[in-house]
Amino acid sequence: MNDYDTAAQWIEGSRHAVAFTGAGISVESGIPTFRGPEGLWSRYDPKVLDLGYFYEHPRECWKVIKEIFYDYMGAKARPNAAHRFLAELEKAGKLEGVITQNIDNLHQEAGSWKVVEFHGTAQTLVCTECGERTPFTEHDLEDLPPLCKKCGGLLKPDFIFFGEAIPPAAYQESLKLLEKADLLIVVGTTGEVMPASMIPYEAKGAKVIEINVEPSAYTHTLTGLFLQAPATQAARELASRLKIDLE
Ligand code: ZN
Repeated sequence: MNDYDTAAQWIEGSRHAVAFTGAGISVESGIPTFRGPEGLWSRYDPKVLDLGYFYEHPRECWKVIKEIFYDYMGAKARPNAAHRFLAELEKAGKLEGVITQNIDNLHQEAGSWKVVEFHGTAQTLVCTECGERTPFTEHDLEDLPPLCKKCGGLLKPDFIFFGEAIPPAAYQESLKLLEKADLLIVVGTTGEVMPASMIPYEAKGAKVIEINVEPSAYTHTLTGLFLQAPATQAARELASRLKIDLE
């Protein structure tokens, strides 16, 4: 029996499986990562996501934010087989939900219902004055910075900037999911971004399947079964064993 057979067995045998995903699951959808030599931060200055700098230079920051998150990421990216695999697992009653560090909405687009967005989302904008949240599609991003239609306040994307706290509701939801978890499927995350990286350790006593192209901070500490492969490849291997159709 190889590791994929074992992993499929673990999934079959679990009662409360939860997935934890990061940038690596969306790479094959064409979404660039932030870190690393090819990452976005090698081309853009990360200070545009520094809250203090953003308030002082909203127009300058928004020009870059629009380019990265709304022109570049948002327009073309489609969910891949790994996103679909998790959505199908949930439909089959074999997955309780996904906790994601991604802000790209691809889990929802793939059909996942229970998605906890640990870092928020790019899909809505939040008013920095009155707190009103609206879909970004309701705003003209040619005219920057976008302003609140209710109070005229400055709008920011509804994902967290550097130094901002994790949305409390997302944190609570994550803990609730992990409290009962007997299986955690970690996909495409190196475990470097705090405090999200601590989340898998909350699944106390759960078996852990890790899918990553390279070993991570979890591989030798937490992981029970390390499937070293791109996310879509591992998803296809598992799907065929679990009789899940990804097409
Ligand atoms: Zn407002």
